[in-house]
Amino acid sequence: MNLFTPYIVRFLERHHFSRVTPRAALIDMDGTLYDSMTNHTAAWHRLMTETGIPCTREEFYLYEGRTGASTINYLFNRELHRDATDEEKETLYHKKTLYFNELPPVKPMPGALEMLNTLRDAGLGRVLVTGSGQNSVISRIDRDFPGIFAPDMRITSRNVTHGKPHPEPFIRAMQLARVTPSQSIVIENAPLGIEAGDRAGAFTIGVTTGPIPVEEMERAGAAIVFPSMPAFAEALPSLLLSLLTTQID
Ligand code: CA
Repeated sequence: MNLFTPYIVRFLERHHFSRVTPRAALIDMDGTLYDSMTNHTAAWHRLMTETGIPCTREEFYLYEGRTGASTINYLFNRELHRDATDEEKETLYHKKTLYFNELPPVKPMPGALEMLNTLRDAGLGRVLVTGSGQNSVISRIDRDFPGIFAPDMRITSRNVTHGKPHPEPFIRAMQLARVTPSQSIVIENAPLGIEAGDRAGAFTIGVTTGPIPVEEMERAGAAIVFPSMPAFAEALPSLLLSLLTTQID
């Protein structure tokens, strides 16, 4: 029995598992590995305001994890009462990417490299799972986090039909890593991603890296929430040990 046991037991009961034996970590990118949400929300807000669609910058934190096409379609329905055409989705998302790339380069999240190295040293597989299709960030993964994600261990918006909060991205990641839900942990920073991870059946860890309140992450299905990435990185060895040693009948 330690600090983490009650969280693990609550997860096991809710999902009707007897134990979690982590063999792979399925890891979100924006807001988890990169401090990129400030730029994303700024680019979205500029794009939609210019397009004549009323919105606030803050609301884009809540859409984090959706594919770009899904965010565009959601706002079209809310404000224009119709779906966006495929051409509109493509044109607007391209423009959003250009606006994003005009902003100062995003930095790796403090603590993320330590967290990833701990997962690797513990022998866990790693799969990148992102709703993004933005090459400018995805292509930096190898430079910023060398040796962590094999080229075929990445799920992006191009590999899925349904983005987060649908469980498909994480289910496909489990297939890539050849693991079951109870052999998986998900690492996320936003409610839609957490919902997707939990619906896929994984022990889903929320990490606070921006303005999203802890309660939102718990409501979305987080098994446990850490207050920062450095705090999570420090606790990770102990959490992994607790997962391996906690079992219910
Ligand atoms: Ca995210």
